[in-house]
Amino acid sequence: MAISSLEIYKILPGTNCGDCGHPTCLSFVNDLIFQKKPPEACPHLRQADIQKIKDLVRSGSSQKLESYGEVMFHPLETALKRVQSLNFSYLSAVMGGGTIYQHENNSLVVPYLNSLLTITKNEARDEAGHLLPPGFQTALYNYLATVQKIHPQNTWVSFKELPGAVFLSSYFVNNVEGMVSGQFSTRSDLLLKSAVSLGGQVIENENISPADVKLSFILIPKVNIRLLFWDSVPEEGLPAVATFLFDAGIYQLDLESLTYLIEELVKRLIAAL
Ligand code: SF4
Repeated sequence: MAISSLEIYKILPGTNCGDCGHPTCLSFVNDLIFQKKPPEACPHLRQADIQKIKDLVRSGSSQKLESYGEVMFHPLETALKRVQSLNFSYLSAVMGGGTIYQHENNSLVVPYLNSLLTITKNEARDEAGHLLPPGFQTALYNYLATVQKIHPQNTWVSFKELPGAVFLSSYFVNNVEGMVSGQFSTRSDLLLKSAVSLGGQVIENENISPADVKLSFILIPKVNIRLLFWDSVPEEGLPAVATFLFDAGIYQLDLESLTYLIEELVKRLIAAL
């Protein structure tokens, strides 16, 4: 008997708090089905519900694809399906921003920050030829499936202002922006250095914000973001605060993929320290 992903999802609290390490309860389901994490990784489950999930996982195979709304529980397979009919040569022209189409293997070479990714219709690899993690590949394929609808508007909104962000915004504030503010508190000079090494540009315009550090990035073609950082002021008890802003034209990209792409940026900022 195949596991009903939806059955498992219904048992989870549904608050998308992020305490299990996933941005949403939905994305936690995959790890449960493939037994990469036990249900106990969600600290908000009652013992009886933990047992129910264990019974469901034990009784099923892990092969069934099942959708909940528009989100699939086998996200990489689903994201791959979304690009199979796309014309990569045409897509490279639509994307611009340094994207190259390689005829010989029907692949795209796509700038991601200061690196180049090679994406075929089966897999995505980094510049060194390493296969990217499934989550990163999923985000990239979802991006490719959407990029034709992304039209930068030069209007900037916070994560929570993006359509449908309400359930993910606490995860984003705590785990993504919180990671930046935690890591770079009292080290705004290092944030600047890391960002510039990844291709970020300092925003000189005084009118944008009084933040201590103002940066803009082209994360991947047509996905323009800003990072504003106010450093901590220990003598006044003020913590550091980091806020990402997004070009409003990004709203067609699903928020889980966008979150993954930003988390990857944050990891690289920290790694460049
Ligand atoms: S810990 Fe994970 S599964 Fe549990 S409620 Fe929070 S996001 Fe959902």
